[in-house]
Amino acid sequence: MPTRRMSPPTTRSSPRSTGPRSTAPRSTGLGPGDDRRDLPRGGGSAAAVLRTVLDHGPVARSHIGAATGLSPAAVSRQTADLISLGLLRELPAAACGPRAGRPSVPIDVDTETHLACGVHIAVPSVTFGLVDLRGRTVAREQVPHRGDADSTLSLIARHLPGFLRRHAGSRRVLGLGVVTGGHVDTRSGTVIEHEPLGWRNLPLGPLLAARTGLPVTVDGHSRALAQAEILFGDPRARSSLVHLFVGHVVDAAIATDGVVHRGLRSAAGGVAHLRLAGQDQPCPCGGRGCAQVALSDRALVATAVEHGVIPRPDLGLLLRAVAEGESAVVELLRRRLRAIARVVATLLDMLDPEVLVLTELGTIHRPHLLPDLFEEIAAHSRTCRDPELVVRPSSFGVDVLAIAAGATVLDFVHRSPRTLRNAGGPVPVPVPPPAWAAFATYSGSGLEIFLFDPKLLT
Ligand SMILES: [Zn+2]
Repeated sequence: MPTRRMSPPTTRSSPRSTGPRSTAPRSTGLGPGDDRRDLPRGGGSAAAVLRTVLDHGPVARSHIGAATGLSPAAVSRQTADLISLGLLRELPAAACGPRAGRPSVPIDVDTETHLACGVHIAVPSVTFGLVDLRGRTVAREQVPHRGDADSTLSLIARHLPGFLRRHAGSRRVLGLGVVTGGHVDTRSGTVIEHEPLGWRNLPLGPLLAARTGLPVTVDGHSRALAQAEILFGDPRARSSLVHLFVGHVVDAAIATDGVVHRGLRSAAGGVAHLRLAGQDQPCPCGGRGCAQVALSDRALVATAVEHGVIPRPDLGLLLRAVAEGESAVVELLRRRLRAIARVVATLLDMLDPEVLVLTELGTIHRPHLLPDLFEEIAAHSRTCRDPELVVRPSSFGVDVLAIAAGATVLDFVHRSPRTLRNAGGPVPVPVPPPAWAAFATYSGSGLEIFLFDPKLLT
Protein backbone atom coordinates (compact mmCIF):
# COMPACT_ATOMS: atom_id res chain seq x y z
CA MET A 1 0.00 0.00 0.00
CA PRO A 2 1.74 3.21 -1.11
CA THR A 3 0.77 5.24 1.89
CA ARG A 4 2.65 6.92 4.67
CA ARG A 5 1.41 8.28 7.93
CA MET A 6 1.38 12.03 8.40
CA SER A 7 4.00 13.06 10.89
CA PRO A 8 3.36 14.43 13.40
CA PRO A 9 -0.18 12.97 13.52
CA THR A 10 -1.85 16.30 14.16
CA THR A 11 -5.16 15.03 12.79
CA ARG A 12 -5.55 12.31 15.39
CA SER A 13 -8.43 13.30 17.55
CA SER A 14 -8.62 12.71 21.25
CA PRO A 15 -11.68 10.78 22.27
CA ARG A 16 -11.17 11.82 25.87
CA SER A 17 -13.60 14.12 27.51
CA THR A 18 -12.76 17.77 27.69
CA GLY A 19 -15.69 18.48 29.95
CA PRO A 20 -15.22 19.77 33.44
CA ARG A 21 -16.92 17.15 35.53
CA SER A 22 -18.68 14.51 33.55
CA THR A 23 -16.57 11.38 33.31
CA ALA A 24 -19.18 9.22 31.64
CA PRO A 25 -22.14 11.29 30.56
CA ARG A 26 -25.29 9.22 30.43
CA SER A 27 -28.86 10.10 29.67
CA THR A 28 -30.72 10.79 32.87
CA GLY A 29 -34.09 10.68 31.21
CA LEU A 30 -34.66 14.30 32.12
CA GLY A 31 -34.69 15.60 28.59
CA PRO A 32 -37.94 15.87 26.68
CA GLY A 33 -39.03 12.75 24.91
CA ASP A 34 -36.58 10.54 26.77
CA ASP A 35 -36.24 7.23 25.01
CA ARG A 36 -33.44 5.70 27.07
CA ARG A 37 -30.86 6.17 24.38
CA ASP A 38 -27.34 6.00 25.68
CA LEU A 39 -24.77 8.53 24.71
CA PRO A 40 -21.92 7.36 22.50
CA ARG A 41 -18.57 6.15 23.74
CA GLY A 42 -15.76 8.63 23.24
CA GLY A 43 -15.97 12.12 21.83
CA GLY A 44 -16.29 13.70 25.26
CA SER A 45 -18.65 16.49 26.16
CA ALA A 46 -18.99 17.89 22.65
CA ALA A 47 -20.24 14.56 21.32
CA ALA A 48 -22.57 14.18 24.31
CA VAL A 49 -24.10 17.60 23.66
CA LEU A 50 -24.41 16.98 19.93
CA ARG A 51 -26.00 13.58 20.52
CA THR A 52 -28.48 14.99 23.02
CA VAL A 53 -29.60 17.62 20.53
CA LEU A 54 -29.75 15.00 17.77
CA ASP A 55 -32.03 12.84 19.92
CA HIS A 56 -34.22 15.50 21.53
CA GLY A 57 -33.80 18.76 19.61
CA PRO A 58 -34.91 21.44 19.30
CA VAL A 59 -34.06 21.62 22.98
CA ALA A 60 -33.20 24.26 25.56
CA ARG A 61 -29.70 24.46 27.04
CA SER A 62 -31.11 23.53 30.44
CA HIS A 63 -32.35 20.23 29.01
CA ILE A 64 -28.94 19.52 27.50
CA GLY A 65 -27.44 20.01 30.96
CA ALA A 66 -29.97 17.68 32.56
CA ALA A 67 -29.45 14.97 29.95
CA THR A 68 -25.64 15.10 29.89
CA GLY A 69 -24.81 15.99 33.52
CA LEU A 70 -22.74 18.95 32.32
CA SER A 71 -22.76 22.24 34.21
CA PRO A 72 -24.59 25.24 32.66
CA ALA A 73 -21.22 26.86 31.92
CA ALA A 74 -19.96 23.71 30.20
CA VAL A 75 -23.16 23.40 28.16
CA SER A 76 -22.84 27.03 27.13
CA ARG A 77 -19.22 26.56 26.08
CA GLN A 78 -19.87 23.34 24.18
CA THR A 79 -22.93 24.64 22.34
CA ALA A 80 -21.07 27.84 21.36
CA ASP A 81 -18.24 25.69 20.04
CA LEU A 82 -20.57 23.40 18.09
CA ILE A 83 -22.45 26.39 16.67
CA SER A 84 -19.15 27.87 15.48
CA LEU A 85 -18.35 24.54 13.79
CA GLY A 86 -21.69 24.60 11.95
CA LEU A 87 -22.98 21.52 13.77
CA LEU A 88 -25.62 23.20 15.96
CA ARG A 89 -27.72 26.30 15.48
CA GLU A 90 -29.94 28.51 17.60
CA LEU A 91 -33.60 28.78 16.64
CA PRO A 92 -35.74 31.83 17.31
CA ALA A 93 -36.98 31.85 20.92
CA ALA A 94 -40.56 31.88 19.69
CA ALA A 95 -40.12 28.27 18.55
CA CYS A 96 -40.42 27.20 22.21
CA GLY A 97 -43.86 28.76 22.51
CA PRO A 98 -44.93 31.43 24.97
CA ARG A 99 -43.13 31.16 28.30
CA ALA A 100 -43.12 33.22 31.43
CA GLY A 101 -39.86 34.95 32.35
CA ARG A 102 -36.70 34.88 30.32
CA PRO A 103 -37.27 33.12 26.99
CA SER A 104 -35.00 30.16 26.33
CA VAL A 105 -33.36 29.83 22.95
CA PRO A 106 -33.84 26.34 21.53
CA ILE A 107 -30.84 24.57 20.03
CA ASP A 108 -31.09 22.23 17.08
CA VAL A 109 -28.78 20.30 14.80
CA ASP A 110 -27.56 22.53 11.98
CA THR A 111 -28.70 20.75 8.83
CA GLU A 112 -27.95 23.68 6.52
CA THR A 113 -24.16 23.88 6.68
CA HIS A 114 -22.79 20.38 6.12
CA LEU A 115 -23.65 17.28 4.15
CA ALA A 116 -22.18 13.81 3.97
CA CYS A 117 -21.87 12.19 0.60
CA GLY A 118 -22.45 8.47 0.27
CA VAL A 119 -21.82 6.07 -2.56
CA HIS A 120 -23.32 2.62 -2.34
CA ILE A 121 -21.92 0.09 -4.78
CA ALA A 122 -24.36 -2.73 -5.45
CA VAL A 123 -24.35 -5.34 -8.18
CA PRO A 124 -26.57 -3.65 -10.76
CA SER A 125 -26.03 0.00 -9.89
CA VAL A 126 -24.25 2.66 -7.88
CA THR A 127 -26.37 4.86 -5.61
CA PHE A 128 -25.16 8.40 -4.90
CA GLY A 129 -26.64 10.06 -1.86
CA LEU A 130 -26.35 13.28 0.12
CA VAL A 131 -27.51 13.20 3.73
CA ASP A 132 -27.69 15.94 6.31
CA LEU A 133 -26.46 15.76 9.91
CA ARG A 134 -29.80 14.26 10.95
CA GLY A 135 -29.31 11.41 8.50
CA ARG A 136 -32.06 12.63 6.19
CA THR A 137 -31.62 12.13 2.48
CA VAL A 138 -31.23 15.40 0.60
CA ALA A 139 -30.63 13.85 -2.81
CA ARG A 140 -30.28 10.41 -4.34
CA GLU A 141 -29.32 9.25 -7.82
CA GLN A 142 -28.83 5.73 -9.12
CA VAL A 143 -26.58 4.86 -12.03
CA PRO A 144 -26.16 1.37 -13.52
CA HIS A 145 -22.61 0.05 -13.81
CA ARG A 146 -20.89 -2.79 -15.66
CA GLY A 147 -19.36 -4.39 -12.61
CA ASP A 148 -15.64 -4.39 -13.35
CA ALA A 149 -13.69 -2.37 -10.80
CA ASP A 150 -11.98 0.07 -13.15
CA SER A 151 -15.11 1.17 -15.01
CA THR A 152 -17.09 1.39 -11.77
CA LEU A 153 -14.46 3.65 -10.16
CA SER A 154 -14.33 5.78 -13.30
CA LEU A 155 -18.11 6.07 -13.31
CA ILE A 156 -18.10 7.24 -9.67
CA ALA A 157 -15.33 9.78 -10.33
CA ARG A 158 -17.14 11.08 -13.43
CA HIS A 159 -20.63 11.27 -11.89
CA LEU A 160 -19.75 12.62 -8.47
CA PRO A 161 -18.77 16.26 -9.27
CA GLY A 162 -22.00 16.84 -11.21
CA PHE A 163 -24.07 15.15 -8.50
CA LEU A 164 -22.55 17.44 -5.86
CA ARG A 165 -23.01 20.52 -8.02
CA ARG A 166 -26.65 19.64 -8.67
CA HIS A 167 -27.61 18.99 -5.07
CA ALA A 168 -25.08 20.25 -2.49
CA GLY A 169 -25.72 23.95 -3.14
CA SER A 170 -23.73 26.09 -0.75
CA ARG A 171 -23.44 23.31 1.82
CA ARG A 172 -20.05 21.80 2.43
CA VAL A 173 -19.37 18.11 2.02
CA LEU A 174 -17.66 16.50 4.99
CA GLY A 175 -16.38 13.48 3.13
CA LEU A 176 -17.26 10.54 0.96
CA GLY A 177 -18.57 7.34 2.52
CA VAL A 178 -18.40 4.31 0.27
CA VAL A 179 -20.09 1.07 1.16
CA THR A 180 -20.45 -2.21 -0.58
CA GLY A 181 -21.22 -5.82 0.24
CA GLY A 182 -18.93 -8.70 1.06
CA HIS A 183 -15.75 -8.64 3.12
CA VAL A 184 -14.49 -5.08 3.50
CA ASP A 185 -11.47 -4.01 5.55
CA THR A 186 -12.45 -0.63 6.95
CA ARG A 187 -9.00 0.25 8.22
CA SER A 188 -7.26 0.05 4.84
CA GLY A 189 -10.34 0.83 2.76
CA THR A 190 -9.93 -2.45 0.88
CA VAL A 191 -12.61 -4.73 -0.52
CA ILE A 192 -11.13 -8.09 0.44
CA GLU A 193 -13.80 -10.02 -1.42
CA HIS A 194 -17.09 -9.21 -3.10
CA GLU A 195 -18.17 -12.45 -4.69
CA PRO A 196 -21.04 -11.25 -6.94
CA LEU A 197 -18.88 -8.42 -8.34
CA GLY A 198 -15.77 -10.61 -8.55
CA TRP A 199 -13.69 -7.99 -6.68
CA ARG A 200 -10.74 -9.17 -4.58
CA ASN A 201 -8.20 -7.12 -2.61
CA LEU A 202 -9.31 -3.88 -4.25
CA PRO A 203 -7.97 -0.73 -2.46
CA LEU A 204 -11.27 1.05 -3.04
CA GLY A 205 -10.72 3.86 -0.50
CA PRO A 206 -7.29 5.01 -1.68
CA LEU A 207 -8.28 4.71 -5.34
CA LEU A 208 -11.43 6.79 -4.90
CA ALA A 209 -9.67 9.36 -2.72
CA ALA A 210 -7.12 9.78 -5.48
CA ARG A 211 -9.78 10.17 -8.16
CA THR A 212 -12.19 12.44 -6.25
CA GLY A 213 -9.99 14.44 -3.90
CA LEU A 214 -12.42 13.80 -1.04
CA PRO A 215 -11.57 12.09 2.24
CA VAL A 216 -13.02 8.60 1.82
CA THR A 217 -14.26 6.11 4.39
CA VAL A 218 -15.09 2.59 3.27
CA ASP A 219 -17.21 -0.02 5.01
CA GLY A 220 -19.29 -3.09 4.41
CA HIS A 221 -22.90 -2.08 3.91
CA SER A 222 -24.39 -4.26 6.63
CA ARG A 223 -22.08 -2.62 9.17
CA ALA A 224 -22.83 0.80 7.69
CA LEU A 225 -26.55 0.14 8.00
CA ALA A 226 -26.04 -0.94 11.61
CA GLN A 227 -24.22 2.34 12.17
CA ALA A 228 -27.10 4.27 10.61
CA GLU A 229 -29.58 2.49 12.90
CA ILE A 230 -27.44 3.37 15.94
CA LEU A 231 -27.23 7.02 14.91
CA PHE A 232 -30.70 7.69 13.54
CA GLY A 233 -32.86 4.60 13.85
CA ASP A 234 -34.39 2.41 16.54
CA PRO A 235 -33.22 3.69 19.97
CA ARG A 236 -32.67 0.12 21.19
CA ALA A 237 -29.93 -0.29 18.59
CA ARG A 238 -27.56 1.60 20.88
CA SER A 239 -27.74 -1.17 23.48
CA SER A 240 -27.40 -4.20 21.25
CA LEU A 241 -28.19 -4.69 17.61
CA VAL A 242 -27.95 -7.35 14.96
CA HIS A 243 -28.45 -6.18 11.41
CA LEU A 244 -29.13 -8.68 8.63
CA PHE A 245 -28.90 -7.55 5.03
CA VAL A 246 -30.28 -9.72 2.25
CA GLY A 247 -29.64 -8.38 -1.24
CA HIS A 248 -27.21 -9.63 -3.85
CA VAL A 249 -25.04 -10.47 -0.87
CA VAL A 250 -26.15 -11.76 2.51
CA ASP A 251 -24.34 -10.01 5.37
CA ALA A 252 -24.84 -9.41 9.06
CA ALA A 253 -23.48 -6.85 11.51
CA ILE A 254 -23.34 -6.94 15.29
CA ALA A 255 -23.14 -3.92 17.59
CA THR A 256 -23.11 -3.53 21.36
CA ASP A 257 -23.09 -0.31 23.40
CA GLY A 258 -23.30 1.71 20.20
CA VAL A 259 -20.16 0.21 18.68
CA VAL A 260 -20.20 -2.00 15.59
CA HIS A 261 -17.99 -5.05 16.02
CA ARG A 262 -15.62 -5.43 13.07
CA GLY A 263 -13.47 -8.31 14.18
CA LEU A 264 -9.77 -9.07 14.00
CA ARG A 265 -9.86 -9.35 10.19
CA SER A 266 -12.79 -6.98 9.58
CA ALA A 267 -14.77 -10.14 8.84
CA ALA A 268 -17.33 -10.07 11.65
CA GLY A 269 -20.90 -10.75 10.57
CA GLY A 270 -20.06 -13.02 7.63
CA VAL A 271 -23.13 -15.21 7.35
CA ALA A 272 -23.04 -15.64 3.55
CA HIS A 273 -21.94 -19.26 3.83
CA LEU A 274 -24.08 -20.30 6.74
CA ARG A 275 -25.54 -23.65 5.68
CA LEU A 276 -29.35 -23.63 5.58
CA ALA A 277 -31.43 -26.70 6.29
CA GLY A 278 -33.52 -27.79 3.33
CA GLN A 279 -31.40 -25.90 0.76
CA ASP A 280 -29.06 -27.64 -1.65
CA GLN A 281 -27.96 -25.11 -4.28
CA PRO A 282 -24.23 -25.35 -5.17
CA CYS A 283 -22.25 -22.37 -3.88
CA PRO A 284 -19.01 -20.91 -5.33
CA CYS A 285 -17.38 -21.68 -1.96
CA GLY A 286 -17.66 -25.40 -2.74
CA GLY A 287 -20.45 -26.02 -0.26
CA ARG A 288 -24.17 -26.39 -0.87
CA GLY A 289 -27.22 -24.57 0.42
CA CYS A 290 -25.30 -21.53 1.74
CA ALA A 291 -27.41 -18.55 2.83
CA GLN A 292 -26.17 -16.26 0.07
CA VAL A 293 -26.71 -18.67 -2.78
CA ALA A 294 -30.16 -19.65 -1.48
CA LEU A 295 -31.55 -16.28 -0.36
CA SER A 296 -29.88 -13.55 -2.43
CA ASP A 297 -31.70 -11.26 -4.86
CA ARG A 298 -29.96 -13.14 -7.66
CA ALA A 299 -31.56 -16.39 -6.47
CA LEU A 300 -34.92 -14.62 -6.13
CA VAL A 301 -34.69 -13.23 -9.67
CA ALA A 302 -33.73 -16.68 -11.03
CA THR A 303 -36.72 -18.26 -9.28
CA ALA A 304 -39.01 -15.54 -10.67
CA VAL A 305 -37.79 -16.33 -14.21
CA GLU A 306 -38.26 -20.05 -13.54
CA HIS A 307 -41.86 -19.41 -12.48
CA GLY A 308 -42.53 -17.16 -15.48
CA VAL A 309 -43.12 -14.12 -13.27
CA ILE A 310 -40.58 -12.06 -15.23
CA PRO A 311 -39.27 -12.83 -18.74
CA ARG A 312 -35.52 -12.46 -18.05
CA PRO A 313 -33.22 -12.19 -15.00
CA ASP A 314 -33.47 -8.46 -14.32
CA LEU A 315 -33.86 -7.07 -10.79
CA GLY A 316 -35.50 -3.92 -12.21
CA LEU A 317 -38.27 -6.03 -13.76
CA LEU A 318 -38.74 -7.86 -10.48
CA LEU A 319 -38.97 -4.60 -8.52
CA ARG A 320 -41.56 -3.32 -10.99
CA ALA A 321 -43.60 -6.48 -10.47
CA VAL A 322 -43.26 -6.00 -6.68
CA ALA A 323 -44.37 -2.37 -6.95
CA GLU A 324 -47.41 -3.45 -8.96
CA GLY A 325 -48.23 -6.05 -6.31
CA GLU A 326 -48.29 -9.00 -8.70
CA SER A 327 -49.51 -11.89 -6.61
CA ALA A 328 -47.02 -14.44 -8.01
CA VAL A 329 -44.03 -12.27 -7.13
CA VAL A 330 -45.44 -11.41 -3.70
CA GLU A 331 -45.74 -15.14 -3.07
CA LEU A 332 -42.05 -15.60 -3.98
CA LEU A 333 -41.16 -12.80 -1.55
CA ARG A 334 -43.21 -14.51 1.14
CA ARG A 335 -41.42 -17.80 0.61
CA ARG A 336 -38.01 -16.15 0.72
CA LEU A 337 -38.95 -14.26 3.87
CA ARG A 338 -39.87 -17.54 5.55
CA ALA A 339 -36.46 -18.95 4.61
CA ILE A 340 -34.75 -15.77 5.87
CA ALA A 341 -36.61 -16.27 9.16
CA ARG A 342 -34.50 -19.38 9.82
CA VAL A 343 -31.32 -17.28 9.65
CA VAL A 344 -32.91 -14.61 11.84
CA ALA A 345 -33.90 -17.26 14.41
CA THR A 346 -30.31 -18.55 14.52
CA LEU A 347 -28.91 -15.03 14.99
CA LEU A 348 -31.44 -14.29 17.76
CA ASP A 349 -30.51 -17.50 19.57
CA MET A 350 -26.78 -16.84 19.22
CA LEU A 351 -26.71 -13.15 20.14
CA ASP A 352 -29.98 -12.30 21.89
CA PRO A 353 -29.95 -8.62 20.83
CA GLU A 354 -32.40 -5.94 21.97
CA VAL A 355 -33.30 -5.42 18.35
CA LEU A 356 -32.63 -7.20 15.06
CA VAL A 357 -33.07 -5.11 11.93
CA LEU A 358 -33.70 -6.85 8.63
CA THR A 359 -33.01 -5.02 5.39
CA GLU A 360 -34.34 -6.75 2.28
CA LEU A 361 -36.64 -5.69 -0.50
CA GLY A 362 -39.70 -7.71 0.53
CA THR A 363 -40.11 -6.01 3.90
CA ILE A 364 -39.28 -2.58 2.43
CA HIS A 365 -41.85 -2.76 -0.37
CA ARG A 366 -44.40 -5.21 1.08
CA PRO A 367 -44.49 -4.71 4.87
CA HIS A 368 -47.74 -6.68 5.09
CA LEU A 369 -45.54 -9.81 4.74
CA LEU A 370 -43.97 -9.22 8.17
CA PRO A 371 -46.38 -11.57 10.03
CA ASP A 372 -45.04 -14.43 7.89
CA LEU A 373 -41.53 -13.56 9.02
CA PHE A 374 -42.55 -13.38 12.69
CA GLU A 375 -44.47 -16.64 12.57
CA GLU A 376 -41.54 -18.54 11.09
CA ILE A 377 -39.04 -17.01 13.53
CA ALA A 378 -41.21 -17.99 16.51
CA ALA A 379 -41.43 -21.52 15.12
CA HIS A 380 -37.63 -21.91 14.84
CA SER A 381 -36.06 -19.79 17.57
CA ARG A 382 -35.33 -21.53 20.87
CA THR A 383 -35.33 -18.28 22.82
CA CYS A 384 -37.46 -15.66 21.08
CA ARG A 385 -41.19 -16.07 21.56
CA ASP A 386 -42.13 -12.50 20.63
CA PRO A 387 -40.24 -11.70 17.41
CA GLU A 388 -42.64 -8.89 16.56
CA LEU A 389 -41.14 -6.96 19.50
CA VAL A 390 -37.51 -7.63 18.59
CA VAL A 391 -37.35 -7.91 14.80
CA ARG A 392 -38.12 -4.97 12.57
CA PRO A 393 -37.44 -3.77 9.03
CA SER A 394 -34.90 -1.04 8.33
CA SER A 395 -35.78 2.44 9.62
CA PHE A 396 -34.89 4.05 6.31
CA GLY A 397 -37.15 2.53 3.65
CA VAL A 398 -36.12 3.14 0.07
CA ASP A 399 -33.41 5.61 1.17
CA VAL A 400 -31.58 2.85 2.97
CA LEU A 401 -28.60 2.60 0.61
CA ALA A 402 -27.89 6.34 0.45
CA ILE A 403 -28.18 6.74 4.22
CA ALA A 404 -25.94 3.77 4.93
CA ALA A 405 -23.14 5.20 2.82
CA GLY A 406 -23.43 8.67 4.36
CA ALA A 407 -23.60 7.23 7.88
CA THR A 408 -19.97 6.13 7.71
CA VAL A 409 -19.01 9.81 7.51
CA LEU A 410 -21.65 11.09 9.94
CA ASP A 411 -20.72 8.54 12.58
CA PHE A 412 -17.29 10.06 12.83
CA VAL A 413 -18.66 13.62 13.03
CA HIS A 414 -21.14 12.70 15.77
CA ARG A 415 -18.51 10.82 17.77
CA SER A 416 -15.72 13.35 17.39
CA PRO A 417 -17.24 16.68 16.38
CA ARG A 418 -14.16 18.71 17.33
CA THR A 419 -12.15 16.87 14.71
CA LEU A 420 -13.76 19.14 12.14
CA ARG A 421 -11.54 21.85 13.51
CA ASN A 422 -8.48 19.63 13.99
CA ALA A 423 -8.72 18.36 10.45
CA GLY A 424 -8.84 21.87 9.07
CA GLY A 425 -12.54 21.94 8.38
CA PRO A 426 -14.69 20.20 5.83
CA VAL A 427 -13.87 19.85 2.18
CA PRO A 428 -15.64 22.32 -0.11
CA VAL A 429 -17.07 21.26 -3.45
CA PRO A 430 -16.31 21.14 -6.30
CA VAL A 431 -12.84 19.81 -5.53
CA PRO A 432 -9.88 20.31 -7.87
CA PRO A 433 -7.69 17.27 -8.57
CA PRO A 434 -5.19 17.06 -5.69
CA ALA A 435 -1.41 16.91 -5.97
CA TRP A 436 -1.59 14.69 -2.91
CA ALA A 437 -4.59 12.66 -1.94
CA ALA A 438 -5.79 12.09 1.59
CA PHE A 439 -7.31 8.93 2.89
CA ALA A 440 -9.06 9.11 6.23
CA THR A 441 -9.88 6.16 8.40
CA TYR A 442 -11.07 6.03 11.94
CA SER A 443 -11.31 3.65 14.81
CA GLY A 444 -12.04 3.78 18.51
CA SER A 445 -8.74 5.62 19.00
CA GLY A 446 -9.61 8.46 16.64
CA LEU A 447 -9.02 9.71 13.12
CA GLU A 448 -5.98 8.80 11.06
CA ILE A 449 -5.27 10.54 7.80
CA PHE A 450 -2.84 9.08 5.27
CA LEU A 451 -1.31 11.12 2.48
CA PHE A 452 -0.07 9.60 -0.73
CA ASP A 453 0.80 10.54 -4.27
CA PRO A 454 -2.12 9.48 -6.52
CA LYS A 455 0.34 8.74 -9.34
CA LEU A 456 1.71 5.84 -7.28
CA LEU A 457 -1.66 4.14 -7.63
CA THR A 458 -1.73 4.10 -11.41
ZN1 LIG B 1 -20.97 -21.02 0.29
